[in-house]
Amino acid sequence: MKKFLTAVSAAAFAVTAFVAPAIAEGFVGISMPTKSSARWISDGNSMVEQFEAAGYEVDLQYAEDDIPNQLAQIENMITKGVDVLVIAAIDGTTLSNALENAAAAGTAVIAYDRLIRDSGDVDYYATFDNFKVGVQQATSLMNGLKERFGDGPYNVELFGGSPDDNNAYFFYDGAMSVLQPLIDDGTVVVQSGQMGMDTVGTLRWDGAVAQARMDNLLSANYTDNHIQGVLSPYDGLSIGILSSLKGVGYGSGDQKMPVVSGQDAEVPSVKSILAGEQHSTVFKDTRELARVTVGMVDAILKETDPEINDNKTYNNGVKVVPSYLLEPVAVDVSNWENVLIGSGYYKMDQIK
Ligand code: BGC
Repeated sequence: MKKFLTAVSAAAFAVTAFVAPAIAEGFVGISMPTKSSARWISDGNSMVEQFEAAGYEVDLQYAEDDIPNQLAQIENMITKGVDVLVIAAIDGTTLSNALENAAAAGTAVIAYDRLIRDSGDVDYYATFDNFKVGVQQATSLMNGLKERFGDGPYNVELFGGSPDDNNAYFFYDGAMSVLQPLIDDGTVVVQSGQMGMDTVGTLRWDGAVAQARMDNLLSANYTDNHIQGVLSPYDGLSIGILSSLKGVGYGSGDQKMPVVSGQDAEVPSVKSILAGEQHSTVFKDTRELARVTVGMVDAILKETDPEINDNKTYNNGVKVVPSYLLEPVAVDVSNWENVLIGSGYYKMDQIK
């Protein structure tokens, strides 16, 4: 009997030992724009973690803000046979051909954070409420101006994001929904007169470009008077803008630091907020965006409908892309600890 049992368990062991590994739920290609900004690294890491935990195989690539590089990476993923592509586009208008190939191969496509334009082959869009990001930036700018400088009028300059990123227009329009009435009634004065995305945009979200433009704005418009505020749509630009301001003496002596907004709650900007330089940022929890995206992929591969909460806002020029919009959170010195440490997004020793 004992011998028989031993034989049986040995056989069972043999069976378990040689069982083929569980078949992955699916194969997901993730194409991210760049590692030069920490937020995209967090996005990539969160997605890999969550897709793998859900049993997916993933191929994550960063294109270092080079459009041909991103196209090649996407084509390569299609060739490798990914079931779904998750893409945060560098230039949202350059992917139509690649996505035609994806469609021909039966590969589904999710636009991640940034809308992919001019293509009918985008299935879903996972993002934040981008208009609201702009509203939060401008609202915190105005609150900061009132706190630091009392009643207006305030001299303010405007910066926009990259003109090839659809989000940049939503941020700008959201911000201008707050600022335009204040410009019209004279509370906010743009001394340079530079307004509109075609004038204030910052190609590739490049902090050095923003810094150079701020240098020019200061020397052309603020030699006789002071600037009090800068609308900045992204932390990487805010850091460049602040360097420019510090370079001509703002933040020391009796030249108060202007109020500067931001986005992404990147570590250098959180530190800058604590140091009394940058005024605010907008936190977008990349773990949540990854969660929504994994849910979309699950639904696509199970041929069910993913959770969508917006069916009207994001027309990409060919169709309205069904979207899920997450809530951004405005962050300043009053709530950073609660929002960023309390949620476990950062550990205290990363900030202090
Ligand atoms: C993202 C922002 C980010 C910016 C620069 C935008 O598309 O939505 O979170 O600050 O790109 O990377």
